[in-house]
Amino acid sequence: MRTAIVSAMHEELAAVLALMPDETRQPAAGRDFRVGHLHGHDAVAVLSRIGKVAAATTATVLIERFEVDRILFTGVAGGLAPGVERGHVVLADGFLQHDLDASPIFPKYEVPLYGTSRFDTDRALTDRVAQSVARALPGTRVHRGLVISGDRFVATSGESRSLQAALPEALAVEMEGAAIAQVCRDYGVPFAAVRTVSDRADDEAHGDFVQFIRDVASRHSAAIVEAFLGDEAS
Ligand code: SAH
Repeated sequence: MRTAIVSAMHEELAAVLALMPDETRQPAAGRDFRVGHLHGHDAVAVLSRIGKVAAATTATVLIERFEVDRILFTGVAGGLAPGVERGHVVLADGFLQHDLDASPIFPKYEVPLYGTSRFDTDRALTDRVAQSVARALPGTRVHRGLVISGDRFVATSGESRSLQAALPEALAVEMEGAAIAQVCRDYGVPFAAVRTVSDRADDEAHGDFVQFIRDVASRHSAAIVEAFLGDEAS
């Protein structure tokens, strides 16, 4: 069983990489895939880079070349729904691309020729990640539901409000998850995504974004990944 751990930004993955004692760098598609062990498990860690296309390429290479059996994304997201605040954790049940619109030929948000706008994550894997979050970060608020992705850093209150109005179910917004979910569905590879809320996708979203990832989110990611793999027999 080989597990892929993916983040979009270096700051998100740094603490996870520190948990890998023996990894080798294997470059592919302009990325550095770190192949080794984490808690005794066969693991590949990689930075997808930011955005849906970069995430899709990364997921495809992980599956085709590195033959991973499952993908876990860990990083940050902007909170959208009321009460999804900075420092909370969001677990995705499913993803939708909020910037995809082939209407009037297809309904808004629907991915053409898939007949759906929503790509679910793997229920069993997500349940297990939820248990790991509870163990690794006791006392942290956890939300589970729809997360939306688009090729835009949402950093104005106006855009945040219009996304909330259009997609009231959406808990949080980020830039990669829907792409990985779609690739994983194409290949039948289980996928789970866990994100720490770094901002409220509003006018203050830029603030100390990178500092927050370094200080809080990267440590969340490492603790969750460690609990997740530590729970399983190697
Ligand atoms: N302005 C940032 C850009 C990083 S893009 C910077 O200065 O570095 C934001 C990254 O974090 C993406 O990988 C995305 O998935 C996630 N993210 C966090 N908050 C987000 C938000 N409000 N809107 C979109 N993506 C967000």
